[in-house]
Amino acid sequence: MSAENFLEVDSIRQEFGGLIALDDVSFAVRKGEIHGLIGPNGSGKSTLINVMTGIYKPRRGTVTVSGTKLTGMRPDQVYAAGIARTFQNIRIWPELSLFDNVMIGAYRSSQIRPWNALLRVRKLKQRVNGMEEATLDALTRFDLDRYAKRPAGSLSYGQKKLLELARAVVASPTLLLLDEPAAGLNPVEVNDLQIRLRDLVDGGTSILVIEHNMKFVMGLCESISVLNFGRKIMTGTPAEVQGSPDVIEAYLGSTSFQTSQKS
Ligand code: ADP
Ligand code: MG
Repeated sequence: MSAENFLEVDSIRQEFGGLIALDDVSFAVRKGEIHGLIGPNGSGKSTLINVMTGIYKPRRGTVTVSGTKLTGMRPDQVYAAGIARTFQNIRIWPELSLFDNVMIGAYRSSQIRPWNALLRVRKLKQRVNGMEEATLDALTRFDLDRYAKRPAGSLSYGQKKLLELARAVVASPTLLLLDEPAAGLNPVEVNDLQIRLRDLVDGGTSILVIEHNMKFVMGLCESISVLNFGRKIMTGTPAEVQGSPDVIEAYLGSTSFQTSQKS
């Protein structure tokens, strides 16, 4: 791998029955970079995140982060390797408190094992305290701490999206994979999200973000890869992507893009 590449997606092929959802997809992301992944619906964006997090085993290709191969790992192993994600459709436990929703992320990252817990109670308590602290920090980062004890189901849609982010960052991942984090947010919330993601990157987290909101993507990402029918059309800077005739034909020529550019 190249010295400066943090994430390398190399020749990924994913098939579902006769459908080739990802066809030889490769790109690289540098440390501390926000990389956008765009493309029409069904172009394979979510599938790529599922491949990266061990949900699907690709037919071919590898994904490496800091030289560690993720392909072949189980989802929990990928998470333990410092890669966290959010889902396109919100996945929270509505009847659990915000605190418990986020604590689940902290617990997943902890080293606690039931068989040594009894023998090492003091250490266990320290770890639980650490997890509680990290949970509160994550909720505070997204201005959700004052609702910590409320059921997650009582939040607004935008706050639920933030809660998912809080759960994703609680274990201090080195790489965050975000599947349409701005979908359904109002313009004020979208701006706010942009600032929050920029903050995370300034703190050393690298981000791969799938989004349809072009104003958001173009304003936030250092580099962007474009998928169409499972193939990568190009990787480039926002300016290069916006100026590419291939990309415009496949995707950006749509009215949604033109509208979002004017706003
Ligand atoms: P995007 O996120 O870019 O909208 P997806 O990655 O969700 O696209 O889907 C890419 C293609 O793969 C679509 O044709 C979709 O129907 C198909 N696909 C995704 N997941 C599965 C699955 N689990 N089983 C079968 N087909 C799938
Ligand atoms: Mg998707």
